[in-house]
Amino acid sequence: MKYVVVSGGVISGIGKGVLASSTGLLFKTLGLRVTSIKIDPYMNIDAGTMSPLEHGECFVLNDGGEVDLDLGNYERYLNITLTKNHNITTGKIYSNVIEKERNGDYLGKTVQVVPHITNAIQDWIEKVSKIPVDESGKEPQVCIIELGGTVGDIESAPFVEALRQFQFRVGSENFALIHVSLVPVIHGEQKTKPTQAAIKDLRSLGLTPDMIACRCQEELHHQTIEKIGMFCHVGPNQVIAVHDVNSTYHVPLLLKQQKIMNYLTKKLSIGELPKADLESGEKLLNKWRQLTSQHDKSFETVTIALVGKYTHLHDSYLSVIKSLEHSSMKCNRRLKIEWVESTNLEEEMKTKNLSEYHKAWHYVCQADGILIPGGFGSRGIEGMISAAKYARENNIPYLGVCLGLQIAVIEFVRNVLGVEHSTSMEFDNSIKEEEASIVYMPDVDQIKLGGTMRLGIHETKFVEDSNWSILKKLYGNSNAVYERHRHRYEVNPLLIEEIENKGLKFIGKDESGKRMEIIELKDHKFFVGTQYHPEYLSKVLDPSRPFLGLIAASAGILDDVLNRDDLNYKGEF
Ligand code: GLN
Repeated sequence: MKYVVVSGGVISGIGKGVLASSTGLLFKTLGLRVTSIKIDPYMNIDAGTMSPLEHGECFVLNDGGEVDLDLGNYERYLNITLTKNHNITTGKIYSNVIEKERNGDYLGKTVQVVPHITNAIQDWIEKVSKIPVDESGKEPQVCIIELGGTVGDIESAPFVEALRQFQFRVGSENFALIHVSLVPVIHGEQKTKPTQAAIKDLRSLGLTPDMIACRCQEELHHQTIEKIGMFCHVGPNQVIAVHDVNSTYHVPLLLKQQKIMNYLTKKLSIGELPKADLESGEKLLNKWRQLTSQHDKSFETVTIALVGKYTHLHDSYLSVIKSLEHSSMKCNRRLKIEWVESTNLEEEMKTKNLSEYHKAWHYVCQADGILIPGGFGSRGIEGMISAAKYARENNIPYLGVCLGLQIAVIEFVRNVLGVEHSTSMEFDNSIKEEEASIVYMPDVDQIKLGGTMRLGIHETKFVEDSNWSILKKLYGNSNAVYERHRHRYEVNPLLIEEIENKGLKFIGKDESGKRMEIIELKDHKFFVGTQYHPEYLSKVLDPSRPFLGLIAASAGILDDVLNRDDLNYKGEF
């Protein structure tokens, strides 16, 4: 097993995750099996309890793990399936050690950060890195470990120390470190001092960079690279320039151009690989190249109004944005997202700030399609309901994800069934049951998952009379789909018959037939809602089908897409 650690200096949020996933992808293009681990030095056990406005989206895995959004990057780039244990947090490590201490496992010793916490971290990494994560079912050969935050922070200190020890545990030929740093441009000059200081900090903690990845808004000058090499005591071939590019999908190619694999394979003593593996790796690289160059050549735009409640931090919807991007690339369109804060669409806004109200409605009305993503709590709900009504009545392509499905159902019950005050029990739990569109239906898996939410992968079966469904066609006419969930509330069974009689069909249900999973409106360009979150399984080369439908319908090419022969294509790479 070869370990590649990606750490960061200077500031956080400079694209460590993309760099780490891109490096992983390049290992994969050599034909190697790659896995990844994300370390988050915060105390939370997982990302499930954090507001999306804190750390961005909470990503959900097959096993129901609620994890950091970077795990989504890894799954998408590397086409792998991770587990909740691939996300290590301080909270998880400490509770593990404390539990052992309570069991008396330390045999009377004083339990300390060094060596007990640091050993627990190393044991965890070694164990988890061996879990098979791809279709081969075999143990991975390369493990990318991303260390969140910046080196030098108090919280990450035990992890940095654990990694320092780890290089000796696994041997230096199995351990490489990429440190990501920032080169700011001040008055036109590329400044290297922050990088020098960051590397000094790193070395003082006992870690030596094999590569220094310099993020910069512009291409790095040759002199800058040489200067960093000299002051940071590394060769110029160990300094990689990662300037801002058209899209994050170009980053693997940018790294490839700079021949980072030459250095890394040598350092990690990766010898000749079998020809078949090399060939499959080469095929993957070509697909990737094709995708990015095709995208650079597409100029027609598709505009989606994203009506949500966490729009101030776009990372809150990272997988949704990625799914829209994957689908736009597949449709040869440039994606434009109009961010609409749903409260701005509400009547109240007219008196509070009329211009914001008009601006928000202008974006919704100008868009080619409307998307309402997941969310919790009552703020902004009325604005979303109005947007769904607008889409339904004006034949505008609509996709509702989780909360977005619930919104579309509430809107339909209010305006088509005439139950004026209908809402979800999440927003008003005193509402009469027969008037509630959305109710609380505890999951049978509740105890197993230890929470009250329905989480992780579950089967959705298409109902018998669903051959007319656009979404079913997009899913290659399969009878069942497996997608990830994260919700508590569901469509009220008491209202189902009446809703269906008026034309909104529940075309996908869970195995028991009791939970409504997919809605679709007949005689509409594209009006779909899913109780599950399809965005968690979208892949760069295999976009999520509900999102593909939204983009294709919004771009006016749905029939073309439905007639393509590659709809059965399932993440081949
Ligand atoms: N708040 C809703 C529920 O709990 C929707 C959840 C979501 O959109 N993820 O069911």
